[in-house]
Amino acid sequence: MLRVDLGQLDREGSVAVEGVIGADDDLWRETDLEWSGDVNVRLRASFAGTGEVVARGSVAGVLKQECRRCLQPVETHFAEDVTMVYVADGDEGGGEYALEPVGDALDLSGAVREEIVLAVNPFVVCKPECKGLCPRCGQNLNDEVCDCAVDEADPRWAVLRELKSE
Ligand SMILES: [Zn+2]
Ligand SMILES: [Zn+2]
Repeated sequence: MLRVDLGQLDREGSVAVEGVIGADDDLWRETDLEWSGDVNVRLRASFAGTGEVVARGSVAGVLKQECRRCLQPVETHFAEDVTMVYVADGDEGGGEYALEPVGDALDLSGAVREEIVLAVNPFVVCKPECKGLCPRCGQNLNDEVCDCAVDEADPRWAVLRELKSE
């Protein structure tokens, strides 16, 4: 789907590569990424320098993530500009990829996945003022305040507890 025909690229100088990758596409299988809909990819591939292929454009979708404080599901909008450079003897990562066409076609989807994985912010919160979970009983403190919080804050309770246990 996200393939560049290198013959066409040679003739036309630059080629638009646009596609939609579904949330259940095999591409995401080995990542932690979960999408709540399609991922839209809009790239333009062109030749640069000595035989390098550059693909530049944008990737956008809605991610299903988890609030890092209260662990509730959060949907976050992901939108990122990407630039991928394919070099004959390129290393993977850092925006540089190996130029290894299959036949006359260069598949961009692996690099797109790589760029997304690097760009996703894993530390999202459901709201800036999220109070998180109680570290002792696990209560979601956004819903209700548990008794542990009172225990910790008020030293008188500690004294009472000690008296009780004697
Ligand atoms: Zn939260
Ligand atoms: Zn608690």
